[in-house]
Amino acid sequence: MTSPLTPVLSDTWDADQSWTLETYRAHGGYGALAKALDLEPAEIIQTVKDSGLRGRGGAGFPTGMKWGFLPPDDGGPRYLVVNADESEPGTCKDIPLMMAAPHSLIEGVAITSYAIGCTHAFIYVRGEVVHVYRRLLNAVQEAYDAGLLGKNALGEGVDLDVTVHAGAGAYICGEETALLDSLEGRRGQPRLKPPFPAVAGLYARPTVVNNVESIASVPAIVERGADWFTSMGTEKSAGFGLFSLSGHVVRPGQYEAPLGITLRELLDMAGGVRPGHELKFWTPGGSSTPLFTAEHLDVPLDYESVGAAGSMLGTRALQIFDDSVCVVRAVARWTEFYAHESCGKCTPCREGTFWLEQVLARIENGTGVPEDLDVLLDVCENILGRAFCALGDGATSPITSSVQLFREEYEAHITGGGCPFDRAAAELFE
Ligand code: NAD
Repeated sequence: MTSPLTPVLSDTWDADQSWTLETYRAHGGYGALAKALDLEPAEIIQTVKDSGLRGRGGAGFPTGMKWGFLPPDDGGPRYLVVNADESEPGTCKDIPLMMAAPHSLIEGVAITSYAIGCTHAFIYVRGEVVHVYRRLLNAVQEAYDAGLLGKNALGEGVDLDVTVHAGAGAYICGEETALLDSLEGRRGQPRLKPPFPAVAGLYARPTVVNNVESIASVPAIVERGADWFTSMGTEKSAGFGLFSLSGHVVRPGQYEAPLGITLRELLDMAGGVRPGHELKFWTPGGSSTPLFTAEHLDVPLDYESVGAAGSMLGTRALQIFDDSVCVVRAVARWTEFYAHESCGKCTPCREGTFWLEQVLARIENGTGVPEDLDVLLDVCENILGRAFCALGDGATSPITSSVQLFREEYEAHITGGGCPFDRAAAELFE
């Protein structure tokens, strides 16, 4: 069988000192930038539109279309901001990408900046990942030293500066407008949209905000063409992406494959669920996406198919949970995360996640009452669609889907006075 893997972004990750400019160049790096600079900016935007590349940060918004929303040049600055604030529980693709191949991101930044007419780009990386911050700083410095950034970097008289900025460690700063507030020096809280950043973003100027993986995909698309990209994936979910397998899987890690691959195929390559156990549930795209079970092993992992099956492709963070896991406990831990990370700006999310955490805690510790399941679902209903940004909606997804799929496990906690898994474990020691 030929491998369904399509290593493009991850192609050089195993090379010696893969993060250096020397290694990146030895593998053809910055060839796409040279090609791009011979093209008109509009040609690059058209190529990315034709490729069908969709935002790899989770929402899947068409990247070229987003660039096309920028208003005509008025002579003032316009910005590219790379959202490197990867924080979704289970999501772990951008950090390895930036560690292993930071120049693929920088090359993508240079091409995109040239295409959209930006002379100052920003990479906003989450505060906790100091190692990534240092790696990016070093790589950007290497690019400046090589004349790939700075004065005249993009040809006659066209400069490009890149600033790497570390946030202070807040999940909400991954929301693009909260990120922009944080970058401007304010407390990170989402802004009302519209206006979208494309119209009024950083310093109220037209701004493209794109995910790390989206921007790092641009060089290969420019180099090999839109047709090459659309030859992979599905009609509406073109190309390839990083699928991050974690949890109870024999070989966790990054599997770069065409969109539309299934978890069954990915598990075949990853050695399967750990021996002696069965798959119980999994997240197709991080903890904000409704849970799937073994019934969904053959759902093609593309935006349309996952949506039709009742979840979201999101960040392709495939967290695998086997039959040793208490779903109530897993969901309670995620909910603690959302309650802690709620920025407090809107009432449904601030109050709602607080109550979700309280109710789940009492179900988990055995002091829940039968009405608690209705309370949980009612609070979720009052958050969904009423919160200021996607954080609130995301917090409800694992709860509503797990109650739907594993209602009897919740009820067993309530009627049995606590976790049946704990009781079973305790019996082993009696
Ligand atoms: P969204 O659908 O509101 O927007 C997606 C992008 O499209 C944004 O950049 C937005 O500005 C742009 N856009 C949408 N409509 C537009 C319009 N009419 N004009 C111009 N631009 C427009 O989604 P979102 O709230 O930005 O993101 C939600 C997603 O984020 C979730 O699906 C989740 O998977 C993902 N997420 C990722 C992480 C992570 O760590 N990577 C963390 C949390 C959530």
